[in-house]
Amino acid sequence: MRSLPKRTAERAHMPHAKLDALIFISPRSLKAFYSDHFVLPLPAGHRFPMQKYRLIREGAQAAVPDIEFHEAPRTTDGVLALAHHPHYIQSVSTGTLSPAEQRAIGFPWTPEMTERSRRSAGATIAACRAAMEQGAAVNLAGGTHHAYADHGEGFCVFNDAAIAARLMQAERHVKRVAIVDLDVHQGNGTASILANDDSVFTLSLHGERNYPFNKETSDLDVALPDGTGDAAYLTALADALTELFSRFMPQLIIYLAGADPHEGDRLGRLKLTLDGLAARDRMVFEQARQRGIPVAVTMAGGYGKNIQDTVAVHLHTIAIAAHHVWGGQTTTSTRADGAA
Ligand SMILES: [Zn+2]
Repeated sequence: MRSLPKRTAERAHMPHAKLDALIFISPRSLKAFYSDHFVLPLPAGHRFPMQKYRLIREGAQAAVPDIEFHEAPRTTDGVLALAHHPHYIQSVSTGTLSPAEQRAIGFPWTPEMTERSRRSAGATIAACRAAMEQGAAVNLAGGTHHAYADHGEGFCVFNDAAIAARLMQAERHVKRVAIVDLDVHQGNGTASILANDDSVFTLSLHGERNYPFNKETSDLDVALPDGTGDAAYLTALADALTELFSRFMPQLIIYLAGADPHEGDRLGRLKLTLDGLAARDRMVFEQARQRGIPVAVTMAGGYGKNIQDTVAVHLHTIAIAAHHVWGGQTTTSTRADGAA
């Protein structure tokens, strides 16, 4: 780990004009939290692309210069209970999920599944903490938005974004959090858990005809037709972000940067290119930066016919996040006062 530059402590006393210059000469790395070494054993031929997480970490190490890797911490039962029922946490922990519950999740229960799920939620929590200190940070997994309070679905065991949003509210006195979910599938679990919580805004931009077929109600849902391409998607996203910021001013954004809107995805049904998805990421970060809002990124889904396409989408997201670290080498932007 790099230590903070000596002059960081002086920033609070400097006028903004000088702040720019100081930040420019004070390199800071993007913090990336990983859990891919907690291997979840799957039966041969299982359709979940588990190896993508290792490929993302290795790819980021090679392609993103200003990055530092940290092992994901483990989430305790007490923290999981911020978003989940104690009975469900107990069932996952002790291996007493019914066969039907395991089928809904899509993974057979193993002790490793529990450990990995706790670590993945922990990585989103750690990314939120780091983002609040330096503007951007990433979980190299996570985005498990189909997990409900009392059950899991669609390869999702615990809802990392809902857990992390509530923990940051308790721990860091953040009043308002926005979850910007750009995975191609609707964030049904997130919408359900946070349905009656006015302090967390849920935005989901997703494929109208895609899973989940019974959708929940987010604070803002944008349903896109099959075959939506870059231009229509980016227009819809710009409109959605305008509406989000007109209705709600978050102090933290948790961004689900799913790779599955890509044209090469097996499940996505949309037609975004790699460039279109990079433009998507830049739009989210730019809009956040203009308002001084930190962004914690999670990877969410990606099921490319060619797994390298999925990895490439995620690596672009990580590289763009690295440009948005406050005080990073590659940006001269200032953070707004009171952002955190
Ligand atoms: Zn998805």
